[in-house]
This record gives sequence, structure tokens and C-alpha cells, in this order.
Amino acid sequence: MERKPLIAGNWKMHKTLADAREFAGAFAAGPDEWPGVDVVVCPPFTALAALQEAFEGSAVMLGAQDMFYEKQGAYTGEISGSMLQDLSCRFVIVGHSERREFIREMDEFIGLKVHAALIQGLTPILCVGENLKQREQGKALGFVRGQVEKALVDLSSAEMGGVVIAYEPIWAIGTGKTATSEEAERMCQAIRMTVAGMAGGVAQEMRILYGGSVNKENIAELMREPNIDGALVGGASLKAAEFRGIIEQAR
Ligand code: PEP
Repeated sequence: MERKPLIAGNWKMHKTLADAREFAGAFAAGPDEWPGVDVVVCPPFTALAALQEAFEGSAVMLGAQDMFYEKQGAYTGEISGSMLQDLSCRFVIVGHSERREFIREMDEFIGLKVHAALIQGLTPILCVGENLKQREQGKALGFVRGQVEKALVDLSSAEMGGVVIAYEPIWAIGTGKTATSEEAERMCQAIRMTVAGMAGGVAQEMRILYGGSVNKENIAELMREPNIDGALVGGASLKAAEFRGIIEQAR
């Protein structure tokens, strides 16, 4: 089964509006710039409108870094999927480890967001991954499987096919330490098998990304693995030339 590679940049809480516009100027891409690979930029909410305009008609798709699970209502500070659609977002990151840690987001809450994203026409990029202690104690596999099961439990098989999962070991995020391609492959394969256990053949259609200190030097080796379909890129997505280099290598 051919799965289209996906490279998504997560800017986290970086870049003012002026910085975002400068990036867009340097990153300008024609509509057919990268055939065969989906390219997504996920800026802070504040830069979405400017990038909507800047990337219109280009090969770059937009994503958000989070959303709430209700469509509208008295939820101060929250953003809904339909609001993100207004800004031409096609993707939304859900359950990033930084939100799990600092905002205390739990699996059940993350599952509600995954479901809401699908219903509201967005592709959720569900982040999972173990911390260093769990890895050292040999608990990584069980922990990540549990995260996947809890976030997807209420979805139909067809809905699961529309989810992207990003395996991001926490010890590799922003640290310069990457999982070896074999380690990353083992976990991405286990994630695919977990989804297969829940949804059958749909697991073969699901895109599974690796994230954690990806750069233009290590992406090609990661992408050679059969169960790694792309990357979620943090720090290296902030510089247009570096991010472009990753996309070129991924192809
Ligand atoms: C991330 O934040 O999703 C990430 C993978 O960050 P970095 O690439 O900087 O490790």
C-alpha cells in the first residue's frame, strides 16, 4: 500500500507575525513544488491568517497546533475545528507531549479532540511517545500502545484511517538526540499493528510519522523504513532553508 509521505512543521510558541511573513517569503513554493509529498506548516494561531494568504495556491498546507472538541460555545480561550477551517487549516496536531505535560491533557480528552477534528473535516496528527524513564524501564512499547488505544477507542475503522499518528519519544524532542531509524521503525510498526488490531486493514492506509530532533541529515535514513511515512519537525521547521532541505531529502 502506497502512503504519501507527509512532512509537518510544528512551530510551537515561536514567531511573531513579522517573523511568520518573513518565513513565508523565504519558503514560497509553487503548487507543484514537491510532487509526491504533503507539506504542512503548523504556526501559532496568531499567524494562521497571514500564512493562509501567503501560502494560497502553493504546495504548502496549513495546520494548527491544537483545537477544542466542541464546535462553539462558552469555552473561553478555545478554538474550534470549524474556526480553523475558516483559516484553510487541513491538519491539527492533537496531544503533543508538551500539552500533555504542561497543560495536563489526558488521553480521554485527547481522544475527544481527535474525534472532533475528524467530524469537523480536519486531519488530526495524534502525538504519542514515551519519556526517558519509561524507555529505560522497558515500558515504552506498552505505554505507547495504551496511548494509541485510548485516543482511538471511540472511532470507527473508517475514521481511524483518516488519522495521522506521530511517534515522538519525549527524550528526543528538542534534545538533538534522535531515535535510531531501527528504534523508530520498531515503534511505528508496533503502532500500525495496534491500529490493525482495532481497525483491521485500515492500518495499512494510516500515515505514521516520526518526530524528535529530525533534521536534513537524518530524515532520509528514517524515511527508508517501511513504517515511517514522514516526520513531525519542531526546531528545524523554523528556518525556511532547513525545512526545505528536510522536504527535499524526504522525497
Ligand atoms: C516536536 O515538537 O514535535 C518536535 C519533534 O520537536 P523537535 O523536532 O525540535 O525535536
